[in-house]
Amino acid sequence: MIDLENTSFDCCIKCTICTAYCPVARATDLYPGPKYSGPDAERLRIKSPLLADHSLSFCNNCKRCETVCPSGVRITDFIYKAKGSRLKKSHRLRDFVLTRTDISGRLSAGFSWLVNPLMKLSVTRFFLSAFLAISRDAVMPAFDRGTFVSGFRNQAKAQEGFPRKVAYFHGCYVNYYDHALGNDVILVLNAMGIGVTAPRQKCCGVPLIAAGNFKAVRKNAAFNIASLGAAVADSDMKIVFSSSSCALTVTQDYPHLLAMDTSAIDDRLELLTRFLHREFAAGNKPAMGSLNLTAAYHSPCHLDRTGGVRHTIAVLQSIPGLRLILLHSECCGIAGTYGFKKEFHAIAQDIGHRLFDQIEQANPDIVITDCETCKWQIEANTRFPVRHPVSVLAEAVKKF
Ligand code: SF4
Ligand code: SF4
Repeated sequence: MIDLENTSFDCCIKCTICTAYCPVARATDLYPGPKYSGPDAERLRIKSPLLADHSLSFCNNCKRCETVCPSGVRITDFIYKAKGSRLKKSHRLRDFVLTRTDISGRLSAGFSWLVNPLMKLSVTRFFLSAFLAISRDAVMPAFDRGTFVSGFRNQAKAQEGFPRKVAYFHGCYVNYYDHALGNDVILVLNAMGIGVTAPRQKCCGVPLIAAGNFKAVRKNAAFNIASLGAAVADSDMKIVFSSSSCALTVTQDYPHLLAMDTSAIDDRLELLTRFLHREFAAGNKPAMGSLNLTAAYHSPCHLDRTGGVRHTIAVLQSIPGLRLILLHSECCGIAGTYGFKKEFHAIAQDIGHRLFDQIEQANPDIVITDCETCKWQIEANTRFPVRHPVSVLAEAVKKF
């Protein structure tokens, strides 16, 4: 049946800018690029689903094609709908492990003392490669101990005392891998007189979208929309995200790709750095000490897509003593879980080299980025520590 929700292929003017800008098409001849896989092929697929071919699986969902398209064609909606509904699923067990982050994250974070050293053993990597098709060369991130949510319970009462509050979508990354970032978010907002609530939430679903599992991602989306909607219903609270990919998924993929009704939360959703930029501009800026640091800033593809980069840069520019080098926008290659997959790992590394080389040339003290998987990829491929913008802000607040 023809999808009348998205006929934006008719707006394509065949300029091929999207293909010139696609990092995967640049890295391999096996992928024909967004113009063909998106608007061109969609016209054929709506007539015959059999015309969906395996090359669609090469797209890494970076959305750089959509960022540059002058005609507003929703290219990745075509690609992922075709992938989800028409391509035969391969590597089901791997997809389960990589996409059911609430299950694998809770289990692994509960036993992080065992899981983290195990993941470094070559025998474990051999089995991951042989049975799950996860690349032996991929550097797997370390789990934090327990969950952020369980630690947050001790702080929840103190947060209630603030007259203004935000609802924090911490996502899987903060919950299972990086509690320190969640605590930095609380520290910065509290220093501005704003309390934090953490409504119940499931994974935003971006790994499920990449795997084409629309049934599961719709369940997560329905849960998140209901829970976040209830959390802010009787207030003017904003819902803030520290992860640029979670923000993009909830603000754009829920209503467009998944056709979910997000009207209950639409006007509340905001990337945290955008929220901070507005507060700073209105005079609510925390007191900060000077850092004396040189930082290279890498803007994640998903943040480029939402146009939120200028807010992060403005926030970083307000930190005393932070010398900022703005890197030329490049995809880091990992694209969520894409770079972990055996068949895509070499492509991901090839894509990332342009960014890694820039960072090496800049030779900063630290690299800053808003995206957790960009952080993993840059740390695995350069010699520099990588921090979230809010963690750098928190360090300046602590220095005051
Ligand atoms: S989402 Fe990224 S990899 Fe996929 S077609 Fe667009 S630019 Fe290429
Ligand atoms: S950039 Fe947009 S208009 Fe140009 S070829 Fe790609 S989809 Fe078509």
